[in-house]
Amino acid sequence: MAGICVVAEQTDGKLRRVSLEAASAAKALGMGAVTAVAFGPGADTHAEVLGRHGVEALVPVMGPTFETYSSDGFAEALVAVIRALDPDVVIFPATSWGKDLAPRVSGLLGAGLVSDCTALANRDGDVVATRPIYAGKAFATVRVEGRPKLFSLRPNVQRVEETGGLAARVTPLDLGGAGAAPKARVTAVERGSDKVELTEASIIVSGGRGMKAPENFKLLDELAEVLGAAVGSSRPVADEGWVPHSYHVGQTGKVVSPDLYIAVGISGAIQHIAGISGSKYIVAINNDPDAPIFKVANYGLVGDLFQIVPALTQALREYKAQQ
Ligand SMILES: Cc1cc2nc3c(=O)[nH]c(=O)nc-3n(C[C@H](O)[C@H](O)[C@H](O)COP(=O)(O)OP(=O)(O)OC[C@H]3O[C@@H](n4cnc5c(N)ncnc54)[C@H](O)[C@@H]3O)c2cc1C
Repeated sequence: MAGICVVAEQTDGKLRRVSLEAASAAKALGMGAVTAVAFGPGADTHAEVLGRHGVEALVPVMGPTFETYSSDGFAEALVAVIRALDPDVVIFPATSWGKDLAPRVSGLLGAGLVSDCTALANRDGDVVATRPIYAGKAFATVRVEGRPKLFSLRPNVQRVEETGGLAARVTPLDLGGAGAAPKARVTAVERGSDKVELTEASIIVSGGRGMKAPENFKLLDELAEVLGAAVGSSRPVADEGWVPHSYHVGQTGKVVSPDLYIAVGISGAIQHIAGISGSKYIVAINNDPDAPIFKVANYGLVGDLFQIVPALTQALREYKAQQ
């Protein structure tokens, strides 16, 4: 087929926003028709929304085997789809799901993969990817030899663009049983919370050891509520059990790229910065004017967080009430 294949991720039958970001990135590359592949129950119901975002065809991969995720089963099925479609480029979401799936597909196909890209561009008919290196201290531009070329796109780095296209054509494929006998499968999923997923949040309020005690995180919950934000943390406070591990941002936690990241009582260790350097704006609240976080912050408030955060929440509440 040539063109671009987008691997769309869904949760509980709902398409994740990152899938539309990947579709928009694929369309913006202008390298031929965009086909999406979606797995699991309801995979064939996204034709309209994907069509509006530049996708021409949708390959739903459904059936009992694909009701829950299995690394090897999904990878085998996706490889069968990619072999049938023969695209030049495949774009995955760089979510936990995509980060598990993409390297397996790359291995099975023997195709080059550039992971966790923050931008994809068409340069002279070839894809040039930008990705962070050295824990976000620098950015590399990378090309892939051979085809198909695989990329995973970090959530929140690509604007979702509506192209106004018609619904995508739903074109199921006969995969010849590929992926039907996975060696391992997820038997249950336990949801940490129903709050906004950190990697997809456009605003994050994050707390560190400066919060002093777990009960003080309610100050951040209140600020987050008025901002419509998700709450995150540095690693030590998650390790201490002050907050769930799903909050942990950084090199060994979640890599986030919100429009606004508010770091409260976080010193700004390199391992934390590695997870937040894709943020558009960073605001730091810290009582130490020499804290390293101020080197990466766009705006800094030097002072006691126990005074600043409640005052900020109150001011935002009053501002919202006037709107
Ligand atoms: C291999 C490895 C991987 C790691 N991965 C990660 C990771 O993924 N994510 C991560 O976050 N860390 C990670 N770390 C840990 C990292 O090195 C730091 O130790 C950690 O980020 C520090 O957390 P913190 O900023 O909350 O705490 P601290 O460094 O103790 O900073 C607390 C800050 O709060 C400020 N503060 C204190 N009281 C107040 C107040 N009343 N008002 C305002 N400010 C106040 C202080 O000035 C200070 O700057 C990793 C470390 C290693 C070795």
